[in-house]
Amino acid sequence: DVPVITIDGPTASGKGTLASEVARRLGYELLDSGALYRATALAVQQAGADPADAAAVAALAAQLDLRFEADRAFLAGQDVTESLRLEETGNLASKVSVHPAVRQALHGLQLAFRRLPGLVADGRDMGTVVFPAAPLKVFLTASVEQRAARRHSQLISRGIPANIDSLLADLRMRDERDQNRAVAPLKPAEDAVLLDNSGMSIDEGVEFVLEAWDK
Ligand code: C5P
Repeated sequence: DVPVITIDGPTASGKGTLASEVARRLGYELLDSGALYRATALAVQQAGADPADAAAVAALAAQLDLRFEADRAFLAGQDVTESLRLEETGNLASKVSVHPAVRQALHGLQLAFRRLPGLVADGRDMGTVVFPAAPLKVFLTASVEQRAARRHSQLISRGIPANIDSLLADLRMRDERDQNRAVAPLKPAEDAVLLDNSGMSIDEGVEFVLEAWDK
């Protein structure tokens, strides 16, 4: 049995950083499930498909030719590492991810990441839908203001222009969409451990998860 740790939470809660650091420390595989939804969004863009057309988007998701190599992501052979991280891509991902058929199309792909010695999976529904039997489920929270401020400094440090008010508005819109969709809405699993990392350093968050894993 492959041990799985799930880390779910809202946009810009720091789950990506936390998950990759925990995976590194344990020597586990990492699944950034948001990247699969983002790649689907890019595929929709490239195909000129309508994001509201569930069947068309699901077909693109089912054929997703996505590879991860040495920290870079390739979609149909093209390096999409930077375009995957754009706010615009995240927004489109949150639109295409509302379709149950799209979520279904990506389900098997996510399960395939479960390999020994273990997996850390981050996203919105890792603990509730994709890996419901995971022995450790973490649900991250942080205020929307804090998340906007973090995302802002992240973008600025990468030389990408950003505006805090429009980031706040975007985050609120995405929270709303992620929490209120009919399928796999963002919510903690019943047996999830809640972690409010607002006042925490990355290391403190990592220690919290590793300690919970040791128990
Ligand atoms: O986590 P990230 O910001 O990369 O995810 C982009 C979008 O993909 C989210 O806003 C969410 O709507 C969707 N998503 C999802 N389920 C996941 C991961 C991401 O619906 N497991």
